[in-house]
Amino acid sequence: MEKRCITSFTIEQLTALMKELGQPGFRAKQIFHWVHQKQAAEFSQMTDQPKALIARLEQDFYIAQHKVRRCQRSKDGTVKYLFELADGNCIETVLMRYNYGNTVCVSTQVGCRMGCRFCASTQGGRVRNLEAGEIAAEIYGVMRDTGERVSHVVLMGIGEPLDNFDNVMDFLEIVSCADGINIGMRNFSLSTCGLVPMIDKLAEKKLQLTLSVSLHAPENTMRSSMMPVNNAYPVEQLIAACRRYQQTTGRRISFEYSMVRGVNDSDQTAAMLAKLIRGMGAHVNLIPINPVDGSPYSASDDANVRRFQQRLMDLGVNATVRRRLGQDISAACGQLRREDSKGGVPNADHCQN
Ligand code: SAH
Repeated sequence: MEKRCITSFTIEQLTALMKELGQPGFRAKQIFHWVHQKQAAEFSQMTDQPKALIARLEQDFYIAQHKVRRCQRSKDGTVKYLFELADGNCIETVLMRYNYGNTVCVSTQVGCRMGCRFCASTQGGRVRNLEAGEIAAEIYGVMRDTGERVSHVVLMGIGEPLDNFDNVMDFLEIVSCADGINIGMRNFSLSTCGLVPMIDKLAEKKLQLTLSVSLHAPENTMRSSMMPVNNAYPVEQLIAACRRYQQTTGRRISFEYSMVRGVNDSDQTAAMLAKLIRGMGAHVNLIPINPVDGSPYSASDDANVRRFQQRLMDLGVNATVRRRLGQDISAACGQLRREDSKGGVPNADHCQN
């Protein structure tokens, strides 16, 4: 039998597991403390647990702990990790240092099957979903490497979080738990390319996190040319889902808008975007695209980005330009992993939109 990842268990799931193993329920919380608060590397460190239980856990379970395969440190304090998982697959995690605290950007899948044309993470398709504990262990790996606290988490690394819904929900529960590293739900941002049914499913959870939607274009021809997912869930459906989300959760949405020269950065496009989302109280984050190998796109120049921002603001839409961190390291998400995996990725799947 393959060993199961103990890091992926919520307290409730651990409680059920202890019952299954004929152990008292209170052991669940103790083990959770060891794994998530003290971040024990081995079951043998769990000194308050009976020897027989430790032996049983060692036999059937493992604690997720990623190896640092590569690491790039930027002059501005940003650190980008290529972590190796237990099965040899690699993912990327980024630490960003802001004045309000350390933010970790986590991957949620090995690869991605959404096919966005500007994104390096999706070029080899999706290999597999990450388990909840594997996502949590990205944060713990950064904490171990730096010896620093992490206060904010963004789900904006490799993968589409809503394409791995159940594991991502367990991850959020585990790392926001007071018995774990206790990061407040308001300090999470989850970014999606726009899987409409999953946005509705997330709304029902009524979490206090920030939902970021990767919009990138205000009309269907333009958006479909950049993001195949738009063929399945066109702009009108996506915006309707965003409005429902705001209504259900009382939380404002943030739109990501990666600016591509000559594609989505004209004055008319800004006007169209303003018309589409005006009145939602939403925030637009403008990001000049990070050019990746094999993509036809180049970045809008800074003056153009500023003009686009000004135009949105003049039309009553709140917009900021994302501060660029880690410029001197391989910054665009998914690039480090692509560089590392020569010869492509076997058994990867792509979405047929
Ligand atoms: N799958 C999720 C989260 C991961 S990507 C999503 O699509 O939102 C995080 C953000 O980076 C998204 O807004 C994505 O569109 C954007 N992105 C991906 N590659 C980029 C690139 N090369 N330059 C700029 N933004 C990029």
